[in-house]
Amino acid sequence: MTETLIKTTGLRRSYTMGRETVHALAGIDLAIERNAFMVVLGPSGSGKSTLLNLLGGLDRPTEGSIRIDEIHLESMDENDLAAYRRTRVGFIFQFFNLIPSMTALENVAFPMQFAGVPRKERNRRAAALMEQVGLADRMHHRPSELSGGQQQRVAVARALVNDPQLILADEPTGNLDTHSGAQMMQVLANLHHQGRTVIVVSHDPRMTHFATDIVRLLDGCVVDEDDY
Ligand code: ADP
Ligand code: MG
Repeated sequence: MTETLIKTTGLRRSYTMGRETVHALAGIDLAIERNAFMVVLGPSGSGKSTLLNLLGGLDRPTEGSIRIDEIHLESMDENDLAAYRRTRVGFIFQFFNLIPSMTALENVAFPMQFAGVPRKERNRRAAALMEQVGLADRMHHRPSELSGGQQQRVAVARALVNDPQLILADEPTGNLDTHSGAQMMQVLANLHHQGRTVIVVSHDPRMTHFATDIVRLLDGCVVDEDDY
């Protein structure tokens, strides 16, 4: 049985710079099933990050709506949007975004501080997540002492601290070699198998290996495979 988790209707995001308006997203209608593994393919500048940022509540649409379960992101105030990001979404970025002065474990435990989780519990949970991404033996390394692939797996562990149902990954293999990229895809596939909904944007067609759905973006529009 399938069920729609996310529905976007006429989703637009435009940027006005001086006299020019860029339509980063030019009217997107998407239905994303619960527990989908959706891969959004598109060349640089096609609107992939814009779409992900809107779905993750990091940005707001110029027009149109985003419904997730029964909530509408476009009508939420800043507080509700912040709560949405904190409790329901796990973000993974191209440039890992780890804090260099903290160990891997501290990087993973850090976001739980804002959720008021006691220190001992933070460290326990962070250690369990480090184990889950295969880095039990790298907890006390700093990012500079880890490979790119390992840093990205730390970023995945950090994205999981609040047990989000939705994982959004923006070019997660963009800075990884082929082997680490394949490993990262396997980590994302595991999250999918655990029942999470995973949306990955990339310009790399190899990312589609585990996909249940593939969407192609060109100039802010969803296009058919034939037009891509
Ligand atoms: P992608 O992630 O697919 O490379 P983006 O979503 O980052 O594409 O960008 C889509 C389009 O929107 C591009 O033409 C980009 O230049 C433009 N754009 C993105 N962010 C901004 C911004 N903050 N201000 C102005 N234009 C932007
Ligand atoms: Mg991008």
